[in-house]
Amino acid sequence: MSVCDPVNGMHSLFKGALTEQLFISPPPTGVDAAIDENYLIEVRQTIEDNHHQVAGFILEPVVQNAGGMRFYNPLYLDRIKALCDEFDLLLIFDEIATGFGRTGKMFATDHCNIAPDIMCVGKALTGGYITLAATITNDKVALGISDKGGVFMHGPTFMGNPLACSAANASLSLLATYDLENRIKHIEGKLAESLDRCKSQKHVVDVRCFGAIGVVELDQPINQHQIQPLFVEEGVWIRPFGKLIYLMPPYIIDDNDIETLANAIYNVIKTLSKPNS
Ligand SMILES: *Cc1c(COP(=O)(O)O)cnc(C)c1O
Repeated sequence: MSVCDPVNGMHSLFKGALTEQLFISPPPTGVDAAIDENYLIEVRQTIEDNHHQVAGFILEPVVQNAGGMRFYNPLYLDRIKALCDEFDLLLIFDEIATGFGRTGKMFATDHCNIAPDIMCVGKALTGGYITLAATITNDKVALGISDKGGVFMHGPTFMGNPLACSAANASLSLLATYDLENRIKHIEGKLAESLDRCKSQKHVVDVRCFGAIGVVELDQPINQHQIQPLFVEEGVWIRPFGKLIYLMPPYIIDDNDIETLANAIYNVIKTLSKPNS
């Protein structure tokens, strides 16, 4: 809870109750955008000033989801790993939203040349059928923990739940039968093609797609209570947040269904820009 987004997350609600963490500004956006050395200088400065009291560096690789559906250059991950090595910090990747193919590779980590020390996975681990999460570590961390007298003695009652694990195994076996990279590339292309015309609409400041993620960003926060019934009228269920309307469809989606979703977004945005009657 304490490491989640300080602005958009729930952090502020628990101020004073949770450990205060250090936050750095998010990386500049654009998967193909050139690396901003000034940004890395800022990151380095924060680490340099605080590394004696910092255990690790946690981030969402390549795509920041709840933090604004921001896509950034994976090369930042290689550079941050080098900083973590230099200052002896553990690097933690939260792949709960990006894992299992969402960004076009099995893990977002696969877009860069390094591996984190700790990786968090959840959500698509079971294809979304049942709740299950896992924390994966490299040997350095695992042996470090067991060296000091055993495993973590804290776990939920239903940890390692056999039904959830079985659902995860089934989902992972299914995923292994996919031509994942091509499948996601296809969804990405179709999302980009069908969301493109939203760009011409009033209030739309950006339309961006990466992997099986499509985002339409508006210039103002969206009133969920106002907009959700409109989506339902269009026959779709879409949950916008902040200024963002986004799609993260299952990989079995076909082109027609992507078009239905994109058309619904287009139609609803068009309604929004009309004066209230
Ligand atoms: C959903 C989500 C979480 C929370 O995962 P839980 O397993 O429900 O605690 C954390 N990080 C990211 C990036 C998420 O998308």
